[in-house]
Amino acid sequence: MIVKCNECKLDVSSSAKTCPNCGALPSYFVEKPKHRIITQTERKKKEFRNDMKNIFSCLGCSVVFVIIGIILKFVFDFFGWNI
Ligand SMILES: [Zn+2]
Repeated sequence: MIVKCNECKLDVSSSAKTCPNCGALPSYFVEKPKHRIITQTERKKKEFRNDMKNIFSCLGCSVVFVIIGIILKFVFDFFGWNI
């Protein structure tokens, strides 16, 4: 298991007798948090990305509708139907 040395903040093997970097004892080692703490900026970035995704999916929908409309127009023109 990889832990973090609380002295030098580097990754250390939990089986190490001392930190290979600074020589700190294993009592200084701390378990690495499983989930990274999301900072304010990271959250904002994520929200922004979600917003962009929503906008693009909306755009995608309208593009599909426009294409369907164009195809229908061609089909109706082809058969000589007036709409
Ligand atoms: Zn260390």
